[in-house]
Amino acid sequence: MTGLPFPSVRADSRAPAGTVGLPDQLGRVARDLRVSVTDRCNLRCRYCMPAEGLPWLAKPEMLTDDELVRVIGVFVGLGVQQIRLTGGEPLLRRSLVDVVRRVARLEPRPRIAMTTNGIGLDRLAQPLADAGLDRVNVSLDTIDPQEFADLTRRDRLHDVELGLKAAAAAGLTPVKVNAVAMRGINDHSVADLLQWCLDRGYELRFIEQMPLDAQHGWDASTMISAQEIHERLEERFELTPLPAADRGSAPAERFLVNGGPVTVGIIASVSAPFCAACDRTRLTADGQVRNCLFSQKETDLLGPLRDGASDEELGALIQGEMWRKLPGHGIGTADFVQPDRPMSAIGG
Ligand code: SAM
Repeated sequence: MTGLPFPSVRADSRAPAGTVGLPDQLGRVARDLRVSVTDRCNLRCRYCMPAEGLPWLAKPEMLTDDELVRVIGVFVGLGVQQIRLTGGEPLLRRSLVDVVRRVARLEPRPRIAMTTNGIGLDRLAQPLADAGLDRVNVSLDTIDPQEFADLTRRDRLHDVELGLKAAAAAGLTPVKVNAVAMRGINDHSVADLLQWCLDRGYELRFIEQMPLDAQHGWDASTMISAQEIHERLEERFELTPLPAADRGSAPAERFLVNGGPVTVGIIASVSAPFCAACDRTRLTADGQVRNCLFSQKETDLLGPLRDGASDEELGALIQGEMWRKLPGHGIGTADFVQPDRPMSAIGG
């Protein structure tokens, strides 16, 4: 799949009257909602943010808890079955436990997952699990303290380790670890990270670095590709691919490690995109709906919501945004333009 718009996809059109759920013009249906609950973060990962951070959203520009839960409820009414809370760093939203509790009361109850850097999870894993959080992905790119500090510009590896332990103890399982490899920083230690995860029962997934950094410093020629990660892991482990049919809309290609049952995932978001099977939709902390990480446009819900829009009206806006979803992200094509918002402000 390339990112070139199909002639049949009209990027300015509205969903036809009577549309049910969240389909697009190519027959994909969104069922997985990524919600950024804050754009702030307490790490400064080099592939994501500059050292000085970013101008954060002011509180009045952000959805309040009531607004957030209401909008998530509208998505659930449109067929969304899984909510993934992310950011920024979701644990920095003070009301997170309460938000999870309220989302878990929606009917039909969605599955609730979270992507976090794990800092503070030692304290929050159990309250979040009690509130209804089902699963967690913790981002961890290296288990070498010096590499960690170099990559994230913060000396917090120990906090992440405590967070991971607490997540497992709270039953937020399988605990998944997400890693990005950067050339010259942690690319030589990907096999160490896999061994570390195997020893602790965490399921590791590597993801290719994408052009979503605030500094616009991404460079295709230096990106560590899925193929390269695979080769480096194979120097130490035997990897057996799981059947492609088991993958569904999941982005990771999974491999049994040394015959299994443990697996490792590799997500080739750039070199082998999975846009044709994408079932995602996104809501930013300031109430914008995006049909793709790489969208150039988004649909505002915050304004209409504060102007008194009904759930039906909000639903129609969300359906319109999803109907316009393009076939692919287009990275690598001549007309690809990196979106204005960085990953941390969209919600990874
Ligand atoms: N703060 C949380 C965390 O660290 O998981 C959630 C937000 S973070 C943006 C979500 C995920 O996006 C993390 O796993 C991070 O490594 C990943 N990420 C950030 N920038 C990326 C990029 N340019 N390419 C690929 N992944 C990226």
